[in-house]
Amino acid sequence: MASLQPVRGTHDLLPDDMRRHQTVVDRIRRCAALYGFEEMATPIFEFTEVFSRTLGETSDVVSKEMYTFERSGDHITLRPEGTAGICRAFISNGLAQQVPFKAFYQGPMFRYERPQKGRQRQFHQVGVELLGIESPQADIEVLALAAQFLDTLGLQGQVTLEINTLGDSASRTAYRDALVAYLMPFHDQLSEDSKTRLEKNPLRILDSKDEGDRKIIANAPVFSDSLNDASLAFFEAVKQGLDALGIAYTVNPRLVRGLDYYCHTAFEFTTTALGAQGTVLAGGRYDGLIQSMGGTPTPGIGWAAGVERLAMLVDGVPDKARPIALIPMGDAAEALALPLANQLRRAGLPVDMAYGGAMKKRMKRANTVNARVAVILGDDELARNEATVRDLDSGEQSAVALDGLVQALTALG
Ligand code: ATP
Ligand code: MG
Repeated sequence: MASLQPVRGTHDLLPDDMRRHQTVVDRIRRCAALYGFEEMATPIFEFTEVFSRTLGETSDVVSKEMYTFERSGDHITLRPEGTAGICRAFISNGLAQQVPFKAFYQGPMFRYERPQKGRQRQFHQVGVELLGIESPQADIEVLALAAQFLDTLGLQGQVTLEINTLGDSASRTAYRDALVAYLMPFHDQLSEDSKTRLEKNPLRILDSKDEGDRKIIANAPVFSDSLNDASLAFFEAVKQGLDALGIAYTVNPRLVRGLDYYCHTAFEFTTTALGAQGTVLAGGRYDGLIQSMGGTPTPGIGWAAGVERLAMLVDGVPDKARPIALIPMGDAAEALALPLANQLRRAGLPVDMAYGGAMKKRMKRANTVNARVAVILGDDELARNEATVRDLDSGEQSAVALDGLVQALTALG
């Protein structure tokens, strides 16, 4: 065996991590239900084209981050994000007539990136997609859902919402021309990636993380100057909706998203609490995506949030459930303990069974698992058909008849 370490950029979710992780997922699940988004799941791998054709050949994700392999001549990719798979499923299941289609998903994503705090090669996202609604109401609703979700995680005041518009396709063409005209004189100073992007997809340069590129971009023309009236009106409606709901935002005219399929509204919720990896939730509108995949033209908008990043920030993670420690002493009690544990568990009470050992060792175990009470079964107790129930917080102890045990323990709550 080469190594017992997990593969670089992957990590185990030990029980404590998993509880934080599940807290994030449980809260979005509840919020999504409030907004009428139903949970669904798509496969963890898809044909490579599902991603390469939609996310854009020059995007970071497609050009360097995908885990791709060949199997029986099929080119397969581990999903780097959720939207393309949901849209593929929407098309292949013939759901075009079932709009608005509102989906919530959660699960692992895979990107070959340089691992660092808040950046893994296998990470998890929760996300929502709203398909079939062209009007800004959809944008407002998914943003309201995002804001409520982050609030329920206790992140009020810790995150800021930045929004921008990428306009309709006419505006994007106009902007693309303006941007190329500005960037051409800087051609030789651009990073190698951005030189390629300048030919294939100049908008992508705005999302470059290269220092030199960023300096050049700082003075680039902004999108807003190229927006036509329809695009401006759309953005205005989104902003008014957010104002009406009291959702604070700043307009960041330089915010573009890393993937090709976006138009109109683009947004990110960021925090300063996580260092460089500060974006916790991001998304936007993708009206052309489903058509470009070969489906009936269907507008869409959605977002995804990084579970690991949110798990680092979340408060109010519930403690482990406190079990009942069952402590049988002696052969007769041991024989009784198993059916008794069974009875308690079937009544919905969590039971921790000490697997042998002296009384002292078993009481220690009860403490380790943070048991609420210890139920002690000794020969004396059994002779009276009773058990001793010790409250491990107060130390109080009482004798309880065996046939009243389920009731007494249930009453403890
Ligand atoms: P970044 O600019 O940080 O690379 P991105 O634009 O690639 O983010 P999206 O594709 O918008 O990210 O994914 C949505 C969210 O998923 C991000 O805001 C982040 O919280 C999370 N995320 C993305 N990539 C990773 C990763 N490699 N590890 C952990 N979380 C991630
Ligand atoms: Mg990225």
